[in-house]
Amino acid sequence: MGTPQLTKNQSLVMGALAHSEGPMSAYTILDKLRDEGFRAPLQVYRALDKLLEYGLVHRLESLNAFVACTCPHEHEHDRGVTAFTICEGCGQVTEFHDAAIEERLSALVRAQSFKTEKTTIEIRGHCKSCA
Ligand SMILES: [Zn+2]
Ligand SMILES: [Zn+2]
Repeated sequence: MGTPQLTKNQSLVMGALAHSEGPMSAYTILDKLRDEGFRAPLQVYRALDKLLEYGLVHRLESLNAFVACTCPHEHEHDRGVTAFTICEGCGQVTEFHDAAIEERLSALVRAQSFKTEKTTIEIRGHCKSCA
């Protein structure tokens, strides 16, 4: 797919997420970008929709928040499994991918003739320093 050309708003949202210590809700992003001219949640949501589509950002359903993709490699978010550990103490989120999990899950799902759109695993718990 290559690197998509981002609009100004998309770049600003991407920058806010990339520099954030942890996941951010759309409203937190809006607050951070008010000085940049953002006024309505819809502006943030529109940018997030595209960034999600490009695979640059992930949505954490259990937190209703967003994180920048931190994968060191180019990977297929569409078919692959994206897994996160989410620390309930400090809020640290770590993204990881594992080929063995992906293979096993896709085999199980194929056996049910189910067509996967997206697979996200969210593991809640405590990180090393919070445990
Ligand atoms: Zn990713
Ligand atoms: Zn922690």
